[in-house]
Amino acid sequence: MIYLDHAATTPLDPRVLEAMMPHLKDRFGNASSVHGLGRKSRVAVEDSRERVAALLGAETSEIVFTSGGTESDNTALKGVLTDDQPGVVTSAAEHEAVLKPAEQMLESGRPVTILRPGPHGAVSPEQVAEAVDERTGLVSLMHANNELGTMTPIREIAALCRERGIRFHCDAVQTAGILDLDVKDLGVDLLSLSAHKFYGPKGVGVLYVRGGVELHPLVEGGSQERKRRAGTENVPAIVGLAKALELAVEESAERVRHLSSLRARLHRNLEQALGGKFVVNTPVDEHATAPHVLNIAFLPRDGEPYDGEMLLLNLDMEGICASAGSACTSGALEPSHVLRAIGLDNGTAAGALRFSLGKGNTESDIDTAVDKLVAAIERMGRFRQPA
Ligand code: PLP
Repeated sequence: MIYLDHAATTPLDPRVLEAMMPHLKDRFGNASSVHGLGRKSRVAVEDSRERVAALLGAETSEIVFTSGGTESDNTALKGVLTDDQPGVVTSAAEHEAVLKPAEQMLESGRPVTILRPGPHGAVSPEQVAEAVDERTGLVSLMHANNELGTMTPIREIAALCRERGIRFHCDAVQTAGILDLDVKDLGVDLLSLSAHKFYGPKGVGVLYVRGGVELHPLVEGGSQERKRRAGTENVPAIVGLAKALELAVEESAERVRHLSSLRARLHRNLEQALGGKFVVNTPVDEHATAPHVLNIAFLPRDGEPYDGEMLLLNLDMEGICASAGSACTSGALEPSHVLRAIGLDNGTAAGALRFSLGKGNTESDIDTAVDKLVAAIERMGRFRQPA
């Protein structure tokens, strides 16, 4: 199998599993229990918090462990608005974990602006400056788009929010584990991470909350996480997250180099084999893009769109895992909200394909995947009914 779907999830790094094992076996105590076994778990959680904080350039009190990116995003959106500043500004290309809460707020009558991104999915600082007003309490924008890889100019936007006294939340789920993230350098007030995107376990994430930012909990009950997220801590997962982030930061330069070089090879091979048959939705300027994603869309042939899902199934039969940009809803292929947001027409969006690369991929994976893709496209062409 050749796995090219790392933006969806990544395999668990064996070094991470090793760090988690004692907490999955003998060290099962509840981190809130006062006995020795409980205290061991408490130490593991707080040690992980210290390490994560140091890796992000944050204070330990600023790190909230959550169940993943979705919960971190929801908590940020719902947790910091005040009656004086009830408004949100975000973009139509955000992940659903941001968009759905924003849309709900809009429906309930709050001042919510959903910006239309440019052709590759990013919004500009100028668009944000124009959209915010004295009622805006939060701007939420992602660091890199999960479908396109496009990066948002976070530093500039964070700075303009700070000047205006507006909180800035960044969903960094796709860049954590690849790019160095220093919260002070980025200038963010809130930042979401999810361990399963950087070779850690599923179901655990972080919400960084800058000191001084008041956060109302989304999940209420016990007083864990300084009353910002109730619930017994998932100790093995938290330990795994810290280990995975540590490895990611240590290996960041090498991962970026490896991923960029593989993506360039993938792009080159695709152009050589299928040039003219597809458009590239990911920006070609590599400084504007996270290094692991390449999103292309096959152009309709003789007016007939490619069936992206069928293409994926064909690739899957050949042992290649990738992802499409459209899903079949009520019998018709619907482009994803991101492809719609960048204005891709339905016919082209139907043939969208996202490859997302990982640290375990090799040059030979790329070459084989492109060969198999060419074969699948030819096969689909042969089986197409004449018009
Ligand atoms: N935000 C982005 C950009 C993502 O890519 C994802 C996962 O697909 C999420 C949020 C949600 O993260 P999780 O799967 O940990 O809930």
